[in-house]
Amino acid sequence: MNVEDNIRHVREVMAEAARRSGRPASAIRLMAVTKTVDDDRILAAIRTGVEIIGENYVQEAKRKIEKLGKAGEWHLIGRLQMNKAKYAVRLFDMIHSVDRLELAAELDRRSRAAGRVIPILIEVNVGGEESKSGIPLNAALDLVRVVAPLENLSIRGLMTMPPWFDDPEESRPYFRALRELGDKIAAEAFPRVEMRELSMGMTDDYVVAIEEGATIVRIGRGIFGERKG
Ligand SMILES: *Cc1c(COP(=O)(O)O)cnc(C)c1O
Repeated sequence: MNVEDNIRHVREVMAEAARRSGRPASAIRLMAVTKTVDDDRILAAIRTGVEIIGENYVQEAKRKIEKLGKAGEWHLIGRLQMNKAKYAVRLFDMIHSVDRLELAAELDRRSRAAGRVIPILIEVNVGGEESKSGIPLNAALDLVRVVAPLENLSIRGLMTMPPWFDDPEESRPYFRALRELGDKIAAEAFPRVEMRELSMGMTDDYVVAIEEGATIVRIGRGIFGERKG
């Protein structure tokens, strides 16, 4: 199947999951995850109307944005090194992978220098896996508390990547835990913090993520096919 057909299919599945959960389809945005994807297929996705392009690497995104232009939003979803913060705040419309104060402070400093306020999500390692980035679940609220006052960042919600399971149903408790954490943070009513976004759900588990409240689903293989290498 081609990119356009895949996107149409994903949209139908998303709409059905939203309907079953009593949520409007418009409450969930589709991100096409484009790591290792060639430019023609990214353009096809943009033309077909995905709301967001998601990139894992700052360098790769820089090259693509310069070549393809910046139709739609581009979000950073990969681990961010301190020395790339300067470029990240100029390139992206949102950064999903903020998981420590040191990184947030650097992004804030670089955003101020660029004259921007950059929307961010706090990445939470709900499963507590050592191989994954993200702040541990029980430390996330305190991180939000200290990042919230940074004036050139705007916290918009949370992001997670649960452990991998054969059965997507097993991801459900992790998605639910992220939503409950979002509710808990919202109840604190920290100044400047908006708990609007839950970035969760990938090709194998986005239906379950939508049922648990996802507002952005991040789909790579379901749109572009298996990645090589
Ligand atoms: C690669 C990636 C995705 C997309 O994964 P698929 O299984 O291809 O849909 C989503 N989120 C992050 C953070 C990724 O690195």
